[in-house]
Amino acid sequence: MGTRLREITKDQPKGMLVIDEKPIIEQSICKLIEMGIDRIVIGTGYLAEAYERLALQYPQIKCIRNDEYEKTGSMYTLYNLKDHISGDILLLECDLIYEKKPLELLIKHKERDVILASELTGSKDEVFIETDEFHLLVNMSKNRNKLSNIYAELVGITKISYNTFQAMCHYATSTQYDSSKLNYEDALVGISKNIKIYVQKLRNFAWCEIDDKHHLYRAKHYIYPIIKAKEKTYPPVKRNILLNPGPATTTDTVKYAQVVPDICPREGEFGDIMQFISTELTRFVADPEEYTAILFGGSGTAVVESILSSVIGEDTVLIINNGVYGRRMCQMAEVYGLKYIEYRSAPDEALDLASLEAVIQNSTAKISHLAVVHNETTTGLLNDIGSIGQLCKKYHVYMIVDAVSSYGAIPIDMNVMNISYLAASSNKNIQGMAGVGFVIANKAQLETTGCLKPRNFYLHLYEQYKYFLATKQMRFTPPVQTLYALKQAIIETRLESIKERYSRYSEAWEVLIDGITQLGLTHLVKKENHSRIITAIIEPNTPSYDFEEMHDYFSRCGYTIYPGKLDAKNTFRVANIGDITHKDMELFVSLLKQYLISISYYNSRRENNGNSKT
Ligand SMILES: *Cc1c(COP(=O)(O)O)cnc(C)c1O
Repeated sequence: MGTRLREITKDQPKGMLVIDEKPIIEQSICKLIEMGIDRIVIGTGYLAEAYERLALQYPQIKCIRNDEYEKTGSMYTLYNLKDHISGDILLLECDLIYEKKPLELLIKHKERDVILASELTGSKDEVFIETDEFHLLVNMSKNRNKLSNIYAELVGITKISYNTFQAMCHYATSTQYDSSKLNYEDALVGISKNIKIYVQKLRNFAWCEIDDKHHLYRAKHYIYPIIKAKEKTYPPVKRNILLNPGPATTTDTVKYAQVVPDICPREGEFGDIMQFISTELTRFVADPEEYTAILFGGSGTAVVESILSSVIGEDTVLIINNGVYGRRMCQMAEVYGLKYIEYRSAPDEALDLASLEAVIQNSTAKISHLAVVHNETTTGLLNDIGSIGQLCKKYHVYMIVDAVSSYGAIPIDMNVMNISYLAASSNKNIQGMAGVGFVIANKAQLETTGCLKPRNFYLHLYEQYKYFLATKQMRFTPPVQTLYALKQAIIETRLESIKERYSRYSEAWEVLIDGITQLGLTHLVKKENHSRIITAIIEPNTPSYDFEEMHDYFSRCGYTIYPGKLDAKNTFRVANIGDITHKDMELFVSLLKQYLISISYYNSRRENNGNSKT
C-alpha cells in the first residue's frame, strides 16, 4: 500500500513507482526474464489493476489477488499463490531496485533455500538477520534488540525450494498466532528450526528498498545510478594497479561515466549535477547546512593554495611542516607574502602537541589560523588533527587542513574536529579522475572572508562560493567530463561507505607491511602513527638496487610505484588506495620478492632463517 509514500501511491501501488522511465517492478520482471525465468506470479492487493495491466504486456506474469490485503500480512498473500506454485521459487518484494548479479548467484547457489542479505545499510527500516556460525538463519527482526547477534540485513530476494514453501504454508496454518497477520519472514524463521535456511551475504552490491521519501531519494540519486552504470555493457579497460599516491586506480564505471553527450556547462542540467556533487562531497565530512564544498578546476595543490591565499588577513598563520606537503604550504605563504610561522617537526614521528601549544602561547604575533596536513603523503605520517583542532578551539584559531590524501578514506568530522577549511581533490581516495579540487568550508567563517583584500583571482574562494550560490556554476570553464566521473565516484563511495573503504585499504596495507617485513625491508613511520594509506619504505641497501629499474619491472607487470620524497632518507613509496584489494597487494608482494631475489637482496635461504618455525 505504500502508506509512507502517500503522494506517489495514492493512485498507484508502490511497485508501479517509476524510476528512469520504467516502473520498478517492471525493471525487476525484465531482470528475471533475462535470467531465464518464464513464470512469474504476482500476489496483488492494493490497486491490483495496475499489475493486471502489466500482465497484459508480459505473458510470463499471472496476478493473484489478495482481497484482504489491508488486514493481512505478506505470508497470507504468498499462501494464496499456492495453487500456482509447483516447484522451487525466487520470492521477491515488489519495492526493490537491485542489480542483476545476485539473481544468478541465487539460482546457481548450491543450497536450495537461500536468503539474500547485505551489509547493514542504515536505512532505518531494515530487517536484521541473526544466524548461527554456519550462516544459517536463526531469527529476523526489525528490532535489533530482539536478536542476540546481527549478521546481515534482509534484501527481500529469497530462493525457496518447493518443500520449504510447503513447510511455510503449513506453518502459517498451524501457528497459534493470528496467522493472517504473519509476514513471510516470520514463516521462514518459524520453520528454520527444522529446515536449514542459508543466509548469503553479498558485499558491495547495489540495492534499495523503497518505503519512504528518504529511501526514494536514496534510490533515485545513489543506488539507481550505480545499477545503471554496472549493467551497461562496455568493453573492460585494461586494469593498471596504481600504487602511487593518486591518481588512483578507478572502476570502469567511473571511467565510462565521462562518456556523455556534449553539454554546455552553463546549462541548468549541469548546474544540478554540480550542486549534487558539492552537497554530497560536504555530506561525507559535515552537515551541508553549515558547511559547503566549493569546486575548482584544478588539482589538490590549487585548492590548498586557494584557502591560504583567500582566507587569511593581516594576522599570522602557523604552518606545521613535517613533510613535503607541509613545506609546500610554507612556500605558498612565502609567495603570497603572508605572515607565517613555520613549525617544523620530524617527518616520521608524531607531533609534540605540548611544544606546538607553547608556540601558540608564546607567539608575539596574533595567530589567526593554523594549517596542517592530515596524512603527510611524504611518509604516511598521520597527524592528529582531532587534538590539534582542540588546541585551535582553546586559542580561537581557525584550522585549515590539507586532507587531499586522507579525505574519502579516513573518517573526518569537521564539526567535531573543529576544522574550518579542508582541501581535497577528485583523484585520490574518492576514486575519481584528476582535475577537480574542492574546499569544504564552514559557511559562517567563509562569509567573514568576503571583506578581505584579494591576493588572487582565479583561486578566490569567496568569489567562487558566492558565484556558485547565485548561479550553480563555476566562475570559469569547469572540467565537464571529470565532474561526471566525480559524480559517479561519489555515488560509489557512498555505496561502499568511507568506513568500509578504509577497512578495505587497511587490509591491503596490512598485507603490504607483513610482506615487506618478511622480505627484510623496513618502513619509516611506526604503525600507531601511520595513516595506512601510503608507506615510505627504506630502499634495499645493496649496490644492485636501482629505483628506476624496479619501477620499470613493476610497470611491465601492470603496477606503478612511486619514488620517495625525503632528503635525508632513501625511500620509495607504495600507496594502497583506489579500486584495489588486498589480493592486488598480495600479488605486489610476490612480485617484489621476485625482484629482490633477482638483485640478490633476498634469497630463499634467508627466508628460512627468518622463519622461526623452521
Ligand atoms: C596529492 C596531495 C596534494 C595535491 O597534489 P596535486 O599534485 O596538486 O594533486 C596536496 N596535499 C597532499 C597531502 C597530497 O597528498
